[in-house]
Amino acid sequence: MADYQKIDSYLTNHLEKSIQELSRLCAQPSIAAQNHGMQECASLVAEMLSNRGFAVEVLPTAGAPVVVGFRKGQSDRTLLFYNHYDVQPAEPLDLWESPPFEPTLRDGKLFARGVSDDKGHIVSRLFAIDALLETNHGELPCNIKFVIEGEEEIGSVHLPEFISQHKEKLAADACVWEFGRVDFREVPLQFLGLRGICYVELSCRTADIDVHSGVGGSIFPNAAWRLVWALNSLKGPDERIRIDGYYDDVIPPSERDRQLIEALPEIAEEYKQRYGVREFLKGMTGGVELRMAEVFEPTCTICGITTGYQGPGTKTVLPAYASAKVDFRLAPGQMPEKVLASLRKHLDEHGFSDIEIHYLGGEPPARTDPDDPFVQLVVNTATDVYGTPMQIVPLTGGSGPNYPFIHELGLPVASAGIGYEGSQAHAPNENIRLDLYLKGARHIARIITEFA
Ligand SMILES: [Zn+2]
Repeated sequence: MADYQKIDSYLTNHLEKSIQELSRLCAQPSIAAQNHGMQECASLVAEMLSNRGFAVEVLPTAGAPVVVGFRKGQSDRTLLFYNHYDVQPAEPLDLWESPPFEPTLRDGKLFARGVSDDKGHIVSRLFAIDALLETNHGELPCNIKFVIEGEEEIGSVHLPEFISQHKEKLAADACVWEFGRVDFREVPLQFLGLRGICYVELSCRTADIDVHSGVGGSIFPNAAWRLVWALNSLKGPDERIRIDGYYDDVIPPSERDRQLIEALPEIAEEYKQRYGVREFLKGMTGGVELRMAEVFEPTCTICGITTGYQGPGTKTVLPAYASAKVDFRLAPGQMPEKVLASLRKHLDEHGFSDIEIHYLGGEPPARTDPDDPFVQLVVNTATDVYGTPMQIVPLTGGSGPNYPFIHELGLPVASAGIGYEGSQAHAPNENIRLDLYLKGARHIARIITEFA
């Protein structure tokens, strides 16, 4: 029987040391989008794992390397932690109150790029492992594996292939996801699934160069109009996506999903305040209906349109080229490759074979059963730490690489972590709260112990 008092007092007494280690990791830039510092950061992460007796490999991919660590424990069960060592670019730099790669403590928080997303999660897990080794005669209660990639912030481009190639190496019984957080009530949330995504750039070229609109306006095709008409064919004012068969594979939410969503707090007023939106689509006003629609419905979003002249004053010009970035968030059941194929078919059938599709990336949706015993373990072990069990969020609107973990490795995936609403992930002044860092480590120590 684990002595949680001993574990907790170890963590409290060694917090400063762990924050120093985290600061060292955050001081090493690792910006995937700019391929900056990736090898150096991978080596540093590898060193941190070796220091805890893990057998570590830094394995190459066609992009940034993946760090894989393994340490044997007392039981035969294996817990896999998924994390990433890459971070978002720090720009705009002038909005940072302290330099992004010079970790700084203020008001019980540590500020740095990547401190929450995802380096704080990595080191808090190592911190929990230190406490277990210290209080359990230098042994881990179960086998532990880490897979720490360096391309999460650019869509985990090479991770699914990496996982397929290293199924044996990554074999486990359950997986703890990269992040977790408490909400505004300080209630820890259990995120159990992610929507998929299919991201494309649509473009149209009608001439080699832009033309005087007095010359071409009535005799040349206009790339901007072509693109606008094509976009217009994708979705109607009723918000229904008009691609043939788009909704065919959607698995509707279950009664259990509805119950779980019903139990979550209201979002309508908060969203109105936070974003300044005046109304919701399709006459929705709030309640469970809005919260269900937010995550369970597939979307088609125009993210940006570029064409012609947009500077001050007038320029009478007929654009030769137009492009738009469009993302489709996919509901459970949909697959990005299939959406891509039906999009091509749709455009061709509607007279838009001149519109080119450039596929910029995609990830399938995936989710873990809320009633999986591992999920229940992670949810319930939170009570001792946060004073309340985790509240289950059956699906979130964003996307990530959870599909290969759930469907290739066959693992239940549960989340646990140190974030909060003010973490500013991806934004200036990214930070973690030290109290939540400590709680996160305490929770991880319990998860490992009970799982073993
Ligand atoms: Zn991120």
